Amino acid sequence: MKLGLFGGSFDPIHQGHVVPVRAARQALGLDRVLYLVTAKPPHKPRRALAPPLARHAMVEMALLGEEGLFASPYEMMLDRPAYTIETLEHFQRAEPAAELHLLIGGDSFADLHLWYRWRDIPAVARLVVLPRPGWDLDTRVLHPEIAALAATDRVILLREPPPLDVSSTRLRELFARGEQPPAGQVSDLVIRYVQKYDLYR
Ligand code: ATP
Repeated sequence: MKLGLFGGSFDPIHQGHVVPVRAARQALGLDRVLYLVTAKPPHKPRRALAPPLARHAMVEMALLGEEGLFASPYEMMLDRPAYTIETLEHFQRAEPAAELHLLIGGDSFADLHLWYRWRDIPAVARLVVLPRPGWDLDTRVLHPEIAALAATDRVILLREPPPLDVSSTRLRELFARGEQPPAGQVSDLVIRYVQKYDLYR
């Protein structure tokens, strides 16, 4: 069984979190991909996030029509920052037969050397790097250890589909101004949920 794990704050989830993951699942034959909504992201300690339950609900809504993509409450239920290596070790224990694949955007992969126990990650999971605008890893100067890792078979750099130029930060700014996101960037259900609860105003 091939299991994909995709962590993030998803504040809010957008199509840049869905389209490349759908493509990665098909390209790599992943049986399931679990979206791990991080309650307390170790990398973003200062910013106030929308409540974890609201972010989880939005992930569920955005993935309703997506075969094989699921929201997981695992990281959200921890009452401490979730470190990716520890999450991977949890799923390794819970699903010993699974081949784990960690999906991450190109921007996050370039910062991997800043993550807690990052050198342990490739032994537990293959890394699947999703294309993101501005993060062409063929031309970027990467930290030397990350560049060396990228050249191994523990890392799969996906080149398709063309990256979507969308970020949660920009969407929060739009919602805060009472504006609608450009068509196709956010699922309609998520837009309605954000507006119903005034999540970003
Ligand atoms: P923020 O703007 O709040 O920092 P974000 O849009 O980067 O958020 P996160 O929830 O932090 O979203 O991202 C979760 C994962 O999704 C990360 O691995 C990130 O690199 C990846 N990701 C986010 N946006 C895109 C995108 N447009 N294309 C590909 N990967 C993306």
